[in-house]
Amino acid sequence: MKSQIKCPQCRKVVIWQDNPHRPFCSERCKLIDLGQWADESYRIQEASQEQLSEEDVMLINNEKTRH
Ligand SMILES: [Zn+2]
Repeated sequence: MKSQIKCPQCRKVVIWQDNPHRPFCSERCKLIDLGQWADESYRIQEASQEQLSEEDVMLINNEKTRH
């Protein structure tokens, strides 16, 4: 049985074996995802420069314990 995975980008089901772009279905999806990660880390960097209020910290801690 060949293991199948869902492309994290477009949700297309792809075969894991012999897939040079795994976990993505294609190089295109891989590049899109990498681009999103770059955006994401940029946003996180920006957010960390802001002062968090006590309420924000409590909300973040609540998020953590919920999982
Ligand atoms: Zn894809």
